[in-house]
Amino acid sequence: MLYNKILESIYYLAGKTTKYDAWIKYQALMKNQWLPREELKKLQWQKLKAILTYSYENIPFYKNKFDSASLIPYDINNPKDLLHIPITTKEELLKETHPLNPKLSANNLEWVKTSGTTGTPLNWPFNIASYNTKYALLLRDYSFTDWKLGNKTASLWWPGHSSYNGESFTEIKKLVYFFAHRRKLFSPITKDSTGINEPLTNTIYNNLKCSPPSVFETSPENLLFLCYFMEDNALQPLKIKTVVVSGIITENMRNKFQKWFQGEIFNTYGPHEMEGIANDCSHHQGLHLSSDSYYLECLNENEPCLPNETGKFILTDLDNYTQPFIRYEIGDCGSYSEKQCPCGRGLPLINYIEGRSKDFIINQNSQKISPRTIIKFFGNYPEIKFFQLIQKDLLKFQLFLIKKNEVYLNIEMIKTDLKNILGNSADIETLFTQAIPAEPSGKFRWVKNNVGAIHESPLQNRTAI
Ligand SMILES: [Zn+2]
Repeated sequence: MLYNKILESIYYLAGKTTKYDAWIKYQALMKNQWLPREELKKLQWQKLKAILTYSYENIPFYKNKFDSASLIPYDINNPKDLLHIPITTKEELLKETHPLNPKLSANNLEWVKTSGTTGTPLNWPFNIASYNTKYALLLRDYSFTDWKLGNKTASLWWPGHSSYNGESFTEIKKLVYFFAHRRKLFSPITKDSTGINEPLTNTIYNNLKCSPPSVFETSPENLLFLCYFMEDNALQPLKIKTVVVSGIITENMRNKFQKWFQGEIFNTYGPHEMEGIANDCSHHQGLHLSSDSYYLECLNENEPCLPNETGKFILTDLDNYTQPFIRYEIGDCGSYSEKQCPCGRGLPLINYIEGRSKDFIINQNSQKISPRTIIKFFGNYPEIKFFQLIQKDLLKFQLFLIKKNEVYLNIEMIKTDLKNILGNSADIETLFTQAIPAEPSGKFRWVKNNVGAIHESPLQNRTAI
């Protein structure tokens, strides 16, 4: 308790007297979250106009986008006007020289790397001001749990995660993680497939058992590895107060994690180029969008989606002036909700993420099926530990399965049920395996679509979830 207070005072003093002002930014964010929704919208729009103007005036890449649409920032007065600014893709950014702003020197910047789950990783620069904003957002995310500065944390990611290759790890970050987060960074359980490293898993289990952190941050796949490890070896469940999960989790998974970790499970969403986009509070009604730091558009064929209708996420980062992201297609799909969360926060809700747009399956009726739908489907079969569904062409699918030892699996029944989603003509080849290969980044994908062209088709049969 005293340690928490001392750290808060140090953070406060640093914020007032040095360029490390994350705590001051954090305090502002803490106030923002309770603002009435209309006030937050006003603040968001002001910030949006400011970054559009800055980008138009300082960054040729974005000025060209405005010019190609014969627009100037002054023309953007409502969300519909925004639709005229061409979307920015990761592929476009990969072709550019960074930093995009020619007045900035690359030597004075830090670099953060995206995970590159479905493509080439992107190195993105940030300066100390934008880093402090991101860190302040992270602290607000933590505040949704009851974590305080100085409480122990632990993280377990996949091999390609930026924490392991250190490119954006400055000395100050090391100090912060050591003293303020008291973070234990575990080595990845997996190397290149779901075949797990048993001795390492055992070490992680023992560590979490003997010295449980207040917050354990990881991916759903890592949590499943640990759950199965405990189950297979008849071990005692762990006791961890808060587990923060980055990735798609279903209700079945949440229940399983609660059983084996005996704490509260929080879901969070924030790919590396845009940390702290959204996370859920203790009411678990969806994810609170950090609308004071991001402008989210949810689009189907460049048309705004209705509430609860799945679309592509297009994000504008309202705080990153080092290298702005304007109408950036982040590659994920989801939907927004108009529900008010009982917690009373003014930050709007989005529903839990549906998955990467490139991973959507398209069935014979031209419906796009989200990875979340497929993951939920397999949640009904507790005999299956891991699966990977790959679409080879419109009607051809490969299904890899890792099942629990010595259990009977009625595979014909599963295929019949799966055809209710994929279509009756779906040709599903089933393969039992011991390990499923991971992506080059070390991340695992439950659903893969190897038929590239279909991603360009609109999200048909627009259904509310
Ligand atoms: Zn809430």
